[in-house]
This record gives sequence, structure tokens and C-alpha cells, in this order.
Amino acid sequence: MKYNVRMGEKLGLYVHIPFCEKKCRYCGFLSFPGYDDEAYESYTRALCKEIENCNEEFAAKYSVDTVFIGGGTPSLLSEERMERIFGSLSRTFNIEKDAEITTESNPNSITPEKLKTYREIGINRLSMGAQSMDDRILNTLGRVHKTADVLRAYEAARRIGFDNINIDLMFGVPEQSLEDVMDSVEQVIKLGPEHISLYGLQLEEDTIFYEEYKSGILDVPEEIEERRMYHEAVSALKIAGYEHYEISNFALFGRKCRHNLKYWQLDNYLGLGLGAHSYIAGSRSKVVDSMEDYLALVNAGRRPTDPKADSFDSPKDAMGIYVFTALRKTEGVDMEDFERRFGISFFAQYRDKADIIKEYMDSGMLKMSGRFLQLTEEGIDISSDIMSEFV
Ligand code: SF4
Repeated sequence: MKYNVRMGEKLGLYVHIPFCEKKCRYCGFLSFPGYDDEAYESYTRALCKEIENCNEEFAAKYSVDTVFIGGGTPSLLSEERMERIFGSLSRTFNIEKDAEITTESNPNSITPEKLKTYREIGINRLSMGAQSMDDRILNTLGRVHKTADVLRAYEAARRIGFDNINIDLMFGVPEQSLEDVMDSVEQVIKLGPEHISLYGLQLEEDTIFYEEYKSGILDVPEEIEERRMYHEAVSALKIAGYEHYEISNFALFGRKCRHNLKYWQLDNYLGLGLGAHSYIAGSRSKVVDSMEDYLALVNAGRRPTDPKADSFDSPKDAMGIYVFTALRKTEGVDMEDFERRFGISFFAQYRDKADIIKEYMDSGMLKMSGRFLQLTEEGIDISSDIMSEFV
């Protein structure tokens, strides 16, 4: 099967800003503390060049309906640098008028001046990495901000006109109790952001937490307690009117994150900046992880992708990944969309899995709802086992 790109097809853009003030103790993302202003400047210059070099390959073919500036900590960049990045984006790409344009931010590096600039350059969605509303837990996580910074940044964002805000929260953190989680969830519900992401702590290799865990000194909640935290938080968020639309994501009506939905729907996205991943019409690529290589490649006028990471999904892989990611959405796998995309029905494609699917259904982990195959609430607890059956 060859994937064809049609003129005017939609595209999401992801732009990576790999700088942070300090490395959080759990962080496995590609982000570096300790870079100075000179490094921010050479990265911004290279990023603008990388963006503008996309001109011929992408601009005419795609219409951009989502942009996501992630990191790292994009709010560490000055207003002027963000303006330059957006100047390059809007000169290069055909960005739709009603595109969803998000930037991630850390509550302690947001200022009213930055927020005003964000609005002026077209950012219409603000994602704030709060993680907890408890200073003790923020300290455990190694975050640089305090709860007061979240409140101050949130209030400033509202005052300046942001009407689409996401707040990230975490559970399953060392020394965190169920009451601590629920207290943070309730405080955030009271603020009333349009979107809330709720992630369980993952112990990633090469992090301080991982090393402490291996040495037996990290006291993480038991799995049963961690699952209770999740289910109680989900239930509070639903009662407060948030739709639980993806395992870790909740939105008020009409406010699902359109950019992240692209990842779960196997739609096209182009990653720009250090380490960013792209998926275009079945082809996967990735920008190099090394800052030195990135700057050298861009400054030599080349695409800074790592050829070793290039791949093309076979139809079988594409179907597996589609099912894997679609099961993350509470809506589940759309049987009609599956057949339309791949030209074969889901149950015909997975006939060899019929017994396993039936077993999960009989035990109440999977269910059919109309034309959708969905994880149940209990199924979410073993979601990685179920999802990995398809890849
Ligand atoms: S702010 Fe985010 S990206 Fe930066 S170190 Fe902390 S978790 Fe990692």
C-alpha cells in the first residue's frame, strides 16, 4: 500500500523547545537545564531556518490546523524569540484561521508580557505544567515552581484573554496520598480550565527517580493505591463536567486537544526542532537528539533528521498502531473508520485475535458500543496489555 498525500490535506505542527531551568527528578523528556542566552539565540536562529527550509516540501501540500509548541519549557524563551519563531511558521506554512495553537508553559516563567505576546502572535491555547497544587509534592518532583505561581499565572492568562487553558496534573508521586491527589484535582476543578491532563508518574530510565527506585529508596504508592487515585480523580472530573475522552485527558464541551488527537488518530504531523518526531502519510522520521549535530545540519542547509530513524509503516504496522492509539481514546476504535482507511474490516484483519478479544470482552475489559470497540474502566487498568496485542 502506498500512502498518497492529497493537496490541501491537514497537518499538525509540533515545535520542540528543549530548554528547562532545572531538570525535574522524574523527567525523561529531551530537555536541558543550564543553557545560557547565547544558546537560546543559536537554537532560535536554527529553528527558524529549519522551519523556513520546509517551504517547498510542505507549504503547498498541507493546510495546518494545529500547532503545538512543546518542550522543555517554551515559556523560558523571550517574547522576541517566540515572535521570530511564529514569524517563520506563518511565512512558511498555510496556517488555517481557526487553527488550534498551543504553547506549553511553566507557571514560574510566564509573565503578563509573555502572555500578551502569545495572544498577539496567534497562540490561542495555553498548557500549564502545574503537576500538583501542593508545594510539598512539587518539591518532591523537583519542580521549580510553587502553587502560588500556578494561581498567579492562571489568573494572568484569564485576564489577558486566554479562554482555552489546559492544566497538567500528576498522580502516583512518591509521598503522595489519595487525599493529596484529590485536593489538587479539586483545586484545579475550582479554577475551571477548559482541559485537564492527569498523568500517572512513569519511572523513566536516566532520571533521578529511576536511580532512587533501583536503589530501593524511592517510596512510590502501591499499584492498588495508584489505581484508586486514578479512578477517584476520573470520577471527580466527570462529576465536574469534564468529558473523559482519552485515558489521561479530560475536556469541557468542544475543548478536546485537537493536536493531541492527531497522535491518537494516526493523522499527519510534522515535528520541528531537536528530537521532534514526524508522521506523514505512513512515513516516520525524527530530528536528531544532539544539539551540536542539529545546529551543524541546519546551518549547512540540510534537514536535521536522523536517517537511522526513518521508517515506513507497513499496512500491518499501520493497522496495529491505529488500534493501539485509538484504544487510548475512550471512544475507542471506530470500526467504520478502520475499514475505510485500510480496506479490510477490523474483525477480518484480527481473526487470529478473535479468542483474545472475546476473552477480554467476557471479562469486562473490552466492550462494543455501537460501531466502537472500547476499553472499559477496568480495562484501562490493564490497557498496555490489551493494546499491545495489536502491535
Ligand atoms: S519542566 Fe518538564 S521538560 Fe522541563 S525538566 Fe521538568 S518535566 Fe522535564
